[in-house]
Order: sequence, then structure tokens, then C-alpha cells
Amino acid sequence: MVSVRPRRLLMGRSDDFVTGFTMTLLQVLRYPDPRLRHRARPVERVDDEVRRLIDDLFETMYDAPGVGLAAVQVSVDRRVVVVDASEDKSAPLTLVNPEILGREGEEESQEGCLSVPGVYEMVRRAERIRFRALDRDGVPFEADAEGLLAVCIQHECDHLEGRLFVDYLSELKRRRIRKRLEKQRRQGVEAPAPKRREGTVI
Ligand SMILES: [Zn+2]
Repeated sequence: MVSVRPRRLLMGRSDDFVTGFTMTLLQVLRYPDPRLRHRARPVERVDDEVRRLIDDLFETMYDAPGVGLAAVQVSVDRRVVVVDASEDKSAPLTLVNPEILGREGEEESQEGCLSVPGVYEMVRRAERIRFRALDRDGVPFEADAEGLLAVCIQHECDHLEGRLFVDYLSELKRRRIRKRLEKQRRQGVEAPAPKRREGTVI
């Protein structure tokens, strides 16, 4: 059954991601929430429940906006990741049980993370990767990625291991970030919405 999403209607928003199905914006955990350190469990079967999770992850990611989101970031202990590294939300990519098979080259780029709002730092990662995963129908596929997409997939696969991009920074920097976010939380301050030009929010 198709249902209308009242939130969108009430807000009068025109959105290019409306599919006609009800979706939910999920709450994204924030560093240093210990649940972000969980190693996610593999998905045994890609069923409707998993597909619903995938839809909600996309909805939450596009709304933020970000270019990637892992299920662990919304407290779901599953190896599910969504990514869209395009400028115009035209390349949604679902990765269930993703694995990086090979890495080549090195590049440094500025990253942010929906779980570490307002923080953008340079991180060094492989320039090109080969990866495999299941798609939203549970069909296995293998592909190559480079540039932003490669960064994004590496960042998301880290989330599935309980690893965050701040782990690549110095202890001193990480402590500063942690203090800042803890202070924001105590004061109930909402971090400003991420802006793409500030860096890649993954
Ligand atoms: Zn992230």
C-alpha cells in the first residue's frame, strides 16, 4: 500500500526523493557515543525489513545532508551502508555486508561525519579501491571506486568496524573534538547543518 508522507506535506517541501512510501528520519548518534564503537553484525538475508532500513538510511542521509551513512550510526547493529557521492543525489548506492578487496594509491582529503558534526579534518586514505557487497535485492556485486566515492566507502566500512575518522587524528585533536561535542550536548546546542563546501560529510 502506498501512503503519503505527512511531514513533507505539512512542511510544503518539494523534494526530489519522495517515492510515495512512508520513510522515517532516524536519529544519528554523535561522537563520543559508545554505540558508535560497536562492530556491526553481517546481514544474513536482505529482506523487506533490511530494505526498509536502507530507505530510512537514504532519507536520513539526504536530509542531513551527507554523502554516506552506516546503520551503526543510527544504532542498528547491521552491516548496511548507503552512499551517494553525486552532486545531485542521482547515484544512490546500497552496500550490504561490504568488503574492501583491494586498495591502491594514497590521497588526503577533508572529511566530516554526520556523527561528528561541525568537524572537518584531513584524512589520508587509499585513492582507489575494489570492493564487493550485496545490493538491496541481496545480489552480490563487485566494483571499483575512486575519488570521493572511494573515500566514502572506506569511511563507511570503518563505521562498520566501530572506527571513526577522528581515530586518524592525533590524540590531542581528538580530545579537543570530544570536549567540544560533549559541551555542545550539555548545553543542548545543535550543530549547524553541514555544508558541502566545508568538506565531505560522510
Ligand atoms: Zn561518518
